[in-house]
Amino acid sequence: MKYDELNLQKLRELPIFDVCSKLGITLYGMGPITKRAKCWYHDDQHPSMHVNKKKNIFKCFVCGKGGDVIRLVQDYDNKTFVEACDWLVNEFHVVLIEEPRKYGTTETRKQEPVAPSIPKSVIPLDATLVAKSLSLDSQFCKSVVPSGYLSESQLRHAASRYRLGCSKDGGVVFWQIDDHQQVHAGKIMYYQPDCHRDKEHHPTWVHTLMKDKLPQNYEFHPCLFGLHLLTMEQPTAGNSSKFNSKLNNSGTNSEPFPCEAGKKIAIVESEKTAVILSEKFPDFVWLSCGGLQAFKPHLLAPLVHYKVIIFPDTDPTGDAFRQWCQVASEAQRLYKFRYPLRVSPLLETHATLDQKQRKIDLVDYLFV
Ligand SMILES: [Zn+2]
Repeated sequence: MKYDELNLQKLRELPIFDVCSKLGITLYGMGPITKRAKCWYHDDQHPSMHVNKKKNIFKCFVCGKGGDVIRLVQDYDNKTFVEACDWLVNEFHVVLIEEPRKYGTTETRKQEPVAPSIPKSVIPLDATLVAKSLSLDSQFCKSVVPSGYLSESQLRHAASRYRLGCSKDGGVVFWQIDDHQQVHAGKIMYYQPDCHRDKEHHPTWVHTLMKDKLPQNYEFHPCLFGLHLLTMEQPTAGNSSKFNSKLNNSGTNSEPFPCEAGKKIAIVESEKTAVILSEKFPDFVWLSCGGLQAFKPHLLAPLVHYKVIIFPDTDPTGDAFRQWCQVASEAQRLYKFRYPLRVSPLLETHATLDQKQRKIDLVDYLFV
Protein backbone atom coordinates (compact mmCIF):
# COMPACT_ATOMS: atom_id res chain seq x y z
CA MET A 1 0.00 0.00 0.00
CA LYS A 2 1.63 3.22 -1.13
CA TYR A 3 -0.35 5.25 1.40
CA ASP A 4 1.32 4.21 4.59
CA GLU A 5 1.03 6.45 7.63
CA LEU A 6 4.01 8.61 6.67
CA ASN A 7 2.63 9.40 3.24
CA LEU A 8 -0.87 9.98 4.59
CA GLN A 9 0.57 12.42 7.06
CA LYS A 10 2.07 14.38 4.19
CA LEU A 11 -1.26 14.53 2.41
CA ARG A 12 -3.06 15.67 5.55
CA GLU A 13 -0.60 18.53 5.85
CA LEU A 14 -1.36 19.92 2.40
CA PRO A 15 -2.71 23.43 2.98
CA ILE A 16 -6.50 23.20 3.20
CA PHE A 17 -7.13 26.63 1.66
CA ASP A 18 -5.21 25.55 -1.43
CA VAL A 19 -7.07 22.24 -1.54
CA CYS A 20 -10.38 24.16 -1.43
CA SER A 21 -9.26 26.44 -4.20
CA LYS A 22 -8.23 23.52 -6.40
CA LEU A 23 -11.63 21.93 -5.81
CA GLY A 24 -13.33 25.19 -6.79
CA ILE A 25 -14.75 25.85 -3.31
CA THR A 26 -15.28 29.56 -2.69
CA LEU A 27 -13.99 30.69 0.67
CA TYR A 28 -15.46 33.68 2.47
CA GLY A 29 -14.32 35.78 5.41
CA MET A 30 -11.16 37.70 6.02
CA GLY A 31 -9.66 35.88 8.99
CA PRO A 32 -6.17 34.64 8.26
CA ILE A 33 -6.77 31.32 10.05
CA THR A 34 -10.44 30.55 9.52
CA LYS A 35 -12.54 31.02 6.42
CA ARG A 36 -16.04 29.92 5.60
CA ALA A 37 -17.66 28.11 2.74
CA LYS A 38 -21.17 27.01 1.88
CA CYS A 39 -21.59 23.54 3.32
CA TRP A 40 -21.65 20.82 0.70
CA TYR A 41 -23.43 18.35 2.94
CA HIS A 42 -26.63 20.26 3.47
CA ASP A 43 -28.59 22.94 1.63
CA ASP A 44 -26.72 25.90 3.03
CA GLN A 45 -27.89 29.49 2.60
CA HIS A 46 -25.14 30.98 4.72
CA PRO A 47 -21.56 29.85 4.62
CA SER A 48 -21.69 27.55 7.66
CA MET A 49 -18.66 25.47 6.84
CA HIS A 50 -15.61 26.61 8.77
CA VAL A 51 -12.26 25.87 7.21
CA ASN A 52 -9.34 26.15 9.61
CA LYS A 53 -5.90 26.69 8.20
CA LYS A 54 -4.05 26.10 11.46
CA LYS A 55 -5.66 22.76 12.28
CA ASN A 56 -5.98 22.04 8.55
CA ILE A 57 -9.52 20.75 8.94
CA PHE A 58 -13.08 21.73 8.06
CA LYS A 59 -16.28 21.57 10.11
CA CYS A 60 -19.87 22.60 9.47
CA PHE A 61 -21.47 24.27 12.45
CA VAL A 62 -24.97 23.43 11.28
CA CYS A 63 -24.84 19.77 10.29
CA GLY A 64 -21.70 18.89 12.21
CA LYS A 65 -19.82 17.21 9.37
CA GLY A 66 -16.11 17.75 9.07
CA GLY A 67 -12.69 16.20 8.61
CA ASP A 68 -9.23 16.57 7.12
CA VAL A 69 -8.18 17.37 3.56
CA ILE A 70 -8.47 13.76 2.42
CA ARG A 71 -12.03 13.59 3.71
CA LEU A 72 -12.69 16.93 2.03
CA VAL A 73 -11.66 15.65 -1.40
CA GLN A 74 -13.49 12.35 -0.87
CA ASP A 75 -16.78 13.95 0.04
CA TYR A 76 -16.72 17.06 -2.12
CA ASP A 77 -15.67 15.19 -5.24
CA ASN A 78 -17.38 11.88 -4.48
CA LYS A 79 -14.15 9.90 -4.52
CA THR A 80 -12.95 6.82 -2.69
CA PHE A 81 -10.21 7.23 -0.10
CA VAL A 82 -7.49 6.08 -2.52
CA GLU A 83 -8.87 8.18 -5.36
CA ALA A 84 -8.82 11.21 -3.09
CA CYS A 85 -5.20 10.53 -2.10
CA ASP A 86 -4.20 10.05 -5.74
CA TRP A 87 -5.87 13.30 -6.65
CA LEU A 88 -3.99 15.20 -3.91
CA VAL A 89 -0.67 13.64 -4.91
CA ASN A 90 -1.18 14.68 -8.52
CA GLU A 91 -2.53 18.15 -7.86
CA PHE A 92 0.18 19.06 -5.37
CA HIS A 93 3.03 17.13 -6.94
CA VAL A 94 3.64 15.36 -3.67
CA VAL A 95 6.71 13.18 -3.74
CA LEU A 96 5.66 9.94 -2.09
CA ILE A 97 8.11 7.72 -0.35
CA GLU A 98 7.95 4.68 -2.55
CA GLU A 99 9.13 2.01 -0.18
CA PRO A 100 8.04 2.35 3.39
CA ARG A 101 11.06 1.68 5.59
CA LYS A 102 11.31 -1.56 7.44
CA TYR A 103 12.66 -0.88 10.88
CA GLY A 104 14.78 -3.20 12.90
CA THR A 105 17.14 -4.79 10.43
CA THR A 106 20.71 -3.67 10.32
CA GLU A 107 20.54 -3.12 6.60
CA THR A 108 17.71 -0.62 6.76
CA ARG A 109 19.06 1.02 9.88
CA LYS A 110 21.87 2.40 7.77
CA GLN A 111 19.27 4.19 5.68
CA GLU A 112 17.59 5.82 8.60
CA PRO A 113 17.18 9.57 8.53
CA VAL A 114 20.31 11.56 8.87
CA ALA A 115 20.22 14.58 11.12
CA PRO A 116 20.98 17.79 9.27
CA SER A 117 24.62 18.33 9.83
CA ILE A 118 27.71 18.80 7.80
CA PRO A 119 29.93 15.90 6.93
CA LYS A 120 32.88 15.66 9.29
CA SER A 121 35.25 15.86 6.38
CA VAL A 122 34.35 19.45 5.60
CA ILE A 123 37.31 21.70 6.08
CA PRO A 124 35.94 25.18 5.55
CA LEU A 125 37.60 28.09 3.86
CA ASP A 126 38.72 30.96 6.03
CA ALA A 127 35.73 33.19 6.79
CA THR A 128 37.88 36.31 6.46
CA LEU A 129 38.01 35.59 2.72
CA VAL A 130 34.30 36.28 2.62
CA ALA A 131 34.58 39.42 4.68
CA LYS A 132 37.38 40.76 2.49
CA SER A 133 35.49 40.06 -0.71
CA LEU A 134 32.25 41.84 0.24
CA SER A 135 31.58 44.46 -2.38
CA LEU A 136 28.95 45.88 -4.71
CA ASP A 137 31.51 46.44 -7.46
CA SER A 138 30.89 43.25 -9.46
CA GLN A 139 29.27 43.62 -12.86
CA PHE A 140 26.36 41.60 -11.47
CA CYS A 141 25.66 44.09 -8.68
CA LYS A 142 26.20 47.02 -11.02
CA SER A 143 23.63 45.60 -13.46
CA VAL A 144 20.85 44.47 -11.16
CA VAL A 145 19.43 47.93 -10.52
CA PRO A 146 19.62 49.39 -14.08
CA SER A 147 18.10 46.15 -15.41
CA GLY A 148 15.04 46.79 -13.32
CA TYR A 149 15.28 43.74 -11.08
CA LEU A 150 15.86 45.52 -7.78
CA SER A 151 16.02 48.98 -6.30
CA GLU A 152 19.30 50.29 -4.93
CA SER A 153 18.28 49.60 -1.33
CA GLN A 154 16.99 46.12 -2.18
CA LEU A 155 20.32 45.34 -3.82
CA ARG A 156 22.23 46.48 -0.75
CA HIS A 157 20.01 44.44 1.50
CA ALA A 158 20.25 41.31 -0.63
CA ALA A 159 24.01 41.65 -1.16
CA SER A 160 24.47 41.99 2.58
CA ARG A 161 22.33 38.98 3.41
CA TYR A 162 23.89 36.73 0.77
CA ARG A 163 27.38 38.19 1.38
CA LEU A 164 28.04 38.87 -2.26
CA GLY A 165 31.68 39.40 -3.06
CA CYS A 166 33.61 40.77 -6.01
CA SER A 167 36.63 39.11 -7.60
CA LYS A 168 39.64 41.05 -8.90
CA ASP A 169 38.30 40.80 -12.44
CA GLY A 170 34.79 42.01 -11.67
CA GLY A 171 33.10 38.65 -11.20
CA VAL A 172 30.51 38.25 -8.48
CA VAL A 173 31.41 35.78 -5.74
CA PHE A 174 28.47 33.65 -4.64
CA TRP A 175 29.73 32.15 -1.37
CA GLN A 176 28.36 28.79 -0.32
CA ILE A 177 28.09 29.02 3.45
CA ASP A 178 26.26 26.32 5.36
CA ASP A 179 23.83 26.49 8.26
CA HIS A 180 26.77 26.13 10.66
CA GLN A 181 28.23 29.28 9.08
CA GLN A 182 31.10 27.32 7.54
CA VAL A 183 32.35 28.50 4.17
CA HIS A 184 32.31 25.57 1.74
CA ALA A 185 33.24 27.38 -1.44
CA GLY A 186 32.98 30.54 -3.48
CA LYS A 187 31.68 30.47 -7.02
CA ILE A 188 32.79 33.33 -9.23
CA MET A 189 30.44 34.20 -12.05
CA TYR A 190 30.50 36.82 -14.76
CA TYR A 191 27.61 38.91 -15.96
CA GLN A 192 26.96 41.37 -18.77
CA PRO A 193 25.65 44.92 -18.33
CA ASP A 194 22.12 43.62 -19.07
CA CYS A 195 22.49 41.34 -16.03
CA HIS A 196 22.50 38.16 -18.07
CA ARG A 197 25.35 35.69 -17.82
CA ASP A 198 28.49 36.38 -19.79
CA LYS A 199 28.65 33.02 -21.53
CA GLU A 200 32.13 33.66 -22.90
CA HIS A 201 33.52 33.97 -19.40
CA HIS A 202 33.18 30.67 -17.61
CA PRO A 203 32.48 30.52 -13.90
CA THR A 204 35.37 29.58 -11.66
CA TRP A 205 35.86 28.77 -7.99
CA VAL A 206 37.75 30.60 -5.30
CA HIS A 207 39.48 27.41 -4.16
CA THR A 208 40.87 26.74 -7.64
CA LEU A 209 42.46 30.20 -7.62
CA MET A 210 43.93 29.86 -4.13
CA LYS A 211 46.24 26.93 -4.82
CA ASP A 212 48.89 26.79 -2.07
CA LYS A 213 46.94 29.11 0.25
CA LEU A 214 44.19 26.54 0.65
CA PRO A 215 43.64 24.94 4.06
CA GLN A 216 45.37 21.61 4.29
CA ASN A 217 43.18 18.70 3.23
CA TYR A 218 40.57 21.05 1.85
CA GLU A 219 38.04 19.21 -0.24
CA PHE A 220 35.32 20.80 -2.30
CA HIS A 221 31.91 19.94 -0.81
CA PRO A 222 29.24 22.16 -2.34
CA CYS A 223 26.27 23.26 -0.27
CA LEU A 224 23.21 25.22 -1.26
CA PHE A 225 23.83 28.92 -1.82
CA GLY A 226 22.01 30.85 0.90
CA LEU A 227 21.98 28.03 3.45
CA HIS A 228 23.62 30.28 6.05
CA LEU A 229 20.42 32.35 6.14
CA LEU A 230 18.69 29.52 8.00
CA THR A 231 20.64 30.13 11.16
CA MET A 232 21.94 33.63 10.74
CA GLU A 233 20.42 36.54 12.54
CA GLN A 234 18.86 38.38 9.66
CA PRO A 235 20.92 41.53 9.24
CA THR A 236 19.02 44.61 8.28
CA ALA A 237 20.32 46.82 5.51
CA GLY A 238 23.34 48.81 6.53
CA ASN A 239 24.67 46.82 9.45
CA SER A 240 26.94 44.65 7.40
CA SER A 241 29.90 45.42 9.64
CA LYS A 242 28.05 43.82 12.49
CA PHE A 243 27.65 40.55 10.70
CA ASN A 244 31.14 40.69 9.28
CA SER A 245 32.53 40.67 12.76
CA LYS A 246 30.05 37.98 13.62
CA LEU A 247 31.49 35.89 10.86
CA ASN A 248 34.95 36.23 12.28
CA ASN A 249 34.38 35.40 15.87
CA SER A 250 32.71 32.40 17.39
CA GLY A 251 32.02 33.93 20.79
CA THR A 252 29.04 32.73 22.74
CA ASN A 253 26.91 35.77 22.01
CA SER A 254 27.23 35.22 18.28
CA GLU A 255 25.74 31.73 18.29
CA PRO A 256 23.56 31.39 15.23
CA PHE A 257 19.95 30.75 16.04
CA PRO A 258 17.55 28.90 13.78
CA CYS A 259 14.96 30.82 11.87
CA GLU A 260 11.33 30.17 12.61
CA ALA A 261 10.51 26.45 12.44
CA GLY A 262 8.37 25.62 9.46
CA LYS A 263 9.67 28.65 7.57
CA LYS A 264 9.23 28.20 3.88
CA ILE A 265 12.26 27.52 1.72
CA ALA A 266 12.30 28.05 -2.03
CA ILE A 267 15.01 26.39 -4.12
CA VAL A 268 15.89 27.63 -7.57
CA GLU A 269 18.63 26.85 -10.02
CA SER A 270 20.55 30.09 -10.30
CA GLU A 271 22.08 32.26 -7.61
CA LYS A 272 20.85 35.36 -9.42
CA THR A 273 17.27 34.17 -9.14
CA ALA A 274 17.63 33.49 -5.42
CA VAL A 275 19.14 36.92 -4.76
CA ILE A 276 16.50 38.81 -6.72
CA LEU A 277 13.47 36.88 -5.51
CA SER A 278 14.60 37.13 -1.88
CA GLU A 279 13.69 40.79 -2.10
CA LYS A 280 10.48 40.27 -4.04
CA PHE A 281 9.12 37.41 -1.92
CA PRO A 282 10.71 37.80 1.51
CA ASP A 283 8.37 35.25 3.11
CA PHE A 284 10.57 32.55 1.61
CA VAL A 285 14.22 31.85 2.26
CA TRP A 286 15.59 31.58 -1.27
CA LEU A 287 18.35 29.05 -1.91
CA SER A 288 20.11 28.06 -5.10
CA CYS A 289 21.80 24.83 -6.12
CA GLY A 290 23.79 26.56 -8.86
CA GLY A 291 22.52 24.40 -11.70
CA LEU A 292 20.57 21.27 -12.48
CA GLN A 293 23.71 19.14 -12.74
CA ALA A 294 24.77 20.29 -9.26
CA PHE A 295 21.40 19.45 -7.67
CA LYS A 296 21.96 16.35 -5.52
CA PRO A 297 19.75 14.78 -2.85
CA HIS A 298 22.23 15.28 0.01
CA LEU A 299 22.11 19.05 -0.51
CA LEU A 300 18.56 18.94 0.83
CA ALA A 301 19.50 17.12 4.05
CA PRO A 302 19.83 20.32 6.14
CA LEU A 303 16.25 21.27 5.19
CA VAL A 304 14.30 18.41 6.76
CA HIS A 305 12.55 20.66 9.28
CA TYR A 306 11.39 23.23 6.77
CA LYS A 307 8.68 23.53 4.18
CA VAL A 308 10.53 23.26 0.91
CA ILE A 309 9.28 24.12 -2.53
CA ILE A 310 11.47 23.64 -5.57
CA PHE A 311 11.10 25.80 -8.66
CA PRO A 312 12.77 24.03 -11.59
CA ASP A 313 13.86 25.85 -14.71
CA THR A 314 11.92 24.75 -17.72
CA ASP A 315 12.80 23.25 -21.11
CA PRO A 316 10.76 22.12 -24.13
CA THR A 317 10.92 18.40 -23.34
CA GLY A 318 10.10 18.51 -19.64
CA ASP A 319 13.33 16.64 -18.93
CA ALA A 320 14.60 19.26 -16.50
CA PHE A 321 11.36 19.14 -14.54
CA ARG A 322 11.50 15.34 -14.33
CA GLN A 323 15.13 15.42 -13.23
CA TRP A 324 14.36 17.85 -10.41
CA CYS A 325 11.45 15.67 -9.30
CA GLN A 326 13.72 12.64 -9.33
CA VAL A 327 16.29 14.28 -7.07
CA ALA A 328 13.55 15.47 -4.73
CA SER A 329 12.09 12.01 -4.62
CA GLU A 330 15.48 10.49 -3.83
CA ALA A 331 16.04 13.04 -1.06
CA GLN A 332 12.66 12.22 0.39
CA ARG A 333 13.59 8.56 0.41
CA LEU A 334 16.88 9.23 2.20
CA TYR A 335 15.87 11.80 4.79
CA LYS A 336 12.85 12.21 6.97
CA PHE A 337 11.27 15.48 5.92
CA ARG A 338 8.77 16.98 8.29
CA TYR A 339 6.78 18.42 5.39
CA PRO A 340 6.42 16.85 1.96
CA LEU A 341 8.87 18.27 -0.55
CA ARG A 342 7.06 20.09 -3.28
CA VAL A 343 8.16 20.70 -6.82
CA SER A 344 6.33 23.61 -8.40
CA PRO A 345 4.79 22.94 -11.81
CA LEU A 346 4.39 26.70 -12.34
CA LEU A 347 6.74 27.05 -15.30
CA GLU A 348 5.88 23.67 -16.82
CA THR A 349 2.24 24.69 -16.81
CA HIS A 350 2.42 28.36 -17.70
CA ALA A 351 5.54 29.01 -19.75
CA THR A 352 5.01 29.36 -23.50
CA LEU A 353 6.85 27.10 -25.93
CA ASP A 354 9.16 29.96 -26.80
CA GLN A 355 9.95 30.49 -23.12
CA LYS A 356 10.60 26.77 -22.69
CA GLN A 357 12.96 26.81 -25.65
CA ARG A 358 14.84 29.60 -23.94
CA LYS A 359 14.88 27.44 -20.77
CA ILE A 360 13.64 30.31 -18.67
CA ASP A 361 13.64 30.36 -14.92
CA LEU A 362 11.36 32.01 -12.41
CA VAL A 363 12.98 35.45 -12.69
CA ASP A 364 12.72 35.44 -16.48
CA TYR A 365 9.09 34.41 -16.13
CA LEU A 366 8.16 37.03 -13.54
CA PHE A 367 10.09 39.89 -15.13
CA VAL A 368 8.87 39.57 -18.71
ZN1 LIG B 1 -23.44 21.38 6.91
